[in-house]
Amino acid sequence: MVTRRLILILGDQLSHNISSLKDASPDQDEILMCEVRDETDYVGHHKKKIAFIFSAMRHFAEELREKGWTVHYTRLTDDKNSGSFVGELKRHVENLKPDGIRLTEPAEWRVHKDISGWADNQSLPVDFCPDHRFICPIDAFISWAEDRKTLRMEYFYRDMRRKTGLLMDGDDPEGSKWNYDAENRKPASDDLFMPKPIRFRADDLTDEVLDLVETEFNDNFGELRPFHFAVTREEALRALNKFIKEMLPYFGDYQDAMLSGQKFLYHSILSPYINVGLLEPMEVCEKAQQAYYDGDAPLNAVEGFIRQIIGWREYVRGIYWFSGPEYVDSNALKADRPLPWFYWSGETKMACVKAVVDQTREEAYAHHIQRLMVTGTFALITGIDPHDVHEWYLAVYIDAFEWVEAPNTIGMSQFADGGKLGSKPYAASGAYINRMSDYCENCHYKVSQKTGEGACPFNPLYWHFLDRNRETLKDNGRLKRAYSTWDRMSQEKRSDYLKTAEHYLEQIESL
Ligand SMILES: Cc1cc2nc3c(=O)[nH]c(=O)nc-3n(C[C@H](O)[C@H](O)[C@H](O)COP(=O)(O)OP(=O)(O)OC[C@H]3O[C@@H](n4cnc5c(N)ncnc54)[C@H](O)[C@@H]3O)c2cc1C
Ligand code: SF4
Repeated sequence: MVTRRLILILGDQLSHNISSLKDASPDQDEILMCEVRDETDYVGHHKKKIAFIFSAMRHFAEELREKGWTVHYTRLTDDKNSGSFVGELKRHVENLKPDGIRLTEPAEWRVHKDISGWADNQSLPVDFCPDHRFICPIDAFISWAEDRKTLRMEYFYRDMRRKTGLLMDGDDPEGSKWNYDAENRKPASDDLFMPKPIRFRADDLTDEVLDLVETEFNDNFGELRPFHFAVTREEALRALNKFIKEMLPYFGDYQDAMLSGQKFLYHSILSPYINVGLLEPMEVCEKAQQAYYDGDAPLNAVEGFIRQIIGWREYVRGIYWFSGPEYVDSNALKADRPLPWFYWSGETKMACVKAVVDQTREEAYAHHIQRLMVTGTFALITGIDPHDVHEWYLAVYIDAFEWVEAPNTIGMSQFADGGKLGSKPYAASGAYINRMSDYCENCHYKVSQKTGEGACPFNPLYWHFLDRNRETLKDNGRLKRAYSTWDRMSQEKRSDYLKTAEHYLEQIESL
């Protein structure tokens, strides 16, 4: 007897070779895709993010139909839409009476728990397929992590290089060094030529989604238009090719730089496409590697780029699944201040924070150092509740899915996991931002001023952070120098720092 399966494809599984479609056939199996309120509403996502995911889903469904598949597609505003994946599964099982359900493992605890909870009570077989788009399977990461006292990305990354063979020269790393990060910290100047990321014109399907988002999510954060993201694989491949040709050669040198008026520098803006499945991580890395072998991009750039994908991206996904659903509630530093309103409004006198929030509102994008060392560091040194910070990052960025966002926010940026992911907190004074950006040139605050009215808030707040968290952080080897500098300061200087910091914390909303 022929088995008729209903294959559920989620909004971040838009890959034609996704594991749930392997060995399936349009002649006997059918596909279910759904836009549900559970997913649009668990945080108030940026308007561009909702539009991107729905438009990419609708285009993917069309492509599947063109290949002969029957796709049952629930639109957000369909009368019978139950609002949840489980509700839609129930409804379609009742109507279509399939012999079984199949899906690729959901990438997040929340969705996995809902669907597997439902599946446990079904007489119908429900088959979860591993997600082969990731290079390191979850159980392989767990075995790697379980054996170790400390988890460090660098060792994991070397294993991924060996496993994939990327930038390997036999058993050795290409160029005889694993990591070229030390060469990747140049500040950028605004006379450099910066190519713009490719922009795509919205077609009728995207226009329809933009209208839907305008009506249904008008109060959400962010500017919806202009909307120029790729929404199909063909467009995402064009974005990839442009990046490899024009930006990759400079990616390494200016990876950590920030410039007002230059929102993208030489970054790839590929994370949204990789995260929803329009591009596969390995194909992206192989293209970058080829550019190095063809002599079109230097090793420091290509290694730096590949490390972000087979290193950081795979590593944070492993940490997410290794740590369990309670990871997002971690709060090792017991930070409990609410998120200041200017994270939404951008109304702050701090030029760096304003630039990053304004850009985030317009583009649903900020690059890694903006996320880590501006909005992230400010939240860390002022002691904002990490769960609030996590929900903000999850809402405002187009590439934000909990499996990748939470380890970056809770672990890397807020040190709320107590150092599971990173070896030290990313706390810094204004000097770092001044070195890596031009933000300080037009700021209300003076970056060279350490204390008193008008001092850059990052300066006293950095020391306040170290002082108030001393009990928890004092044994961290990478903070030893900072604590001994603090201890060598005169009592009067320390007290000036703390007084200015406390004054700023009291009026944090008007900074
Ligand atoms: C607080 C915070 C929150 C973050 N939230 C997210 C998120 O929700 N979704 C997300 O995809 N990334 C997140 N990141 C990681 C990183 O900032 C983005 O992946 C990157 O900025 C995306 O822009 P890009 O494609 O231009 O990246 P590029 O700088 O061009 O890097 C190339 C690719 O490497 C990968 N990558 C780079 N850094 C990381 C990293 N730390 N973790 C995982 N993948 C990485 C991405 O796939 C990216 O497309 C976060 C970082 C921080 C500090
Ligand atoms: S002076 Fe301080 S607050 Fe102003 S832009 Fe520089 S780092 Fe940011």
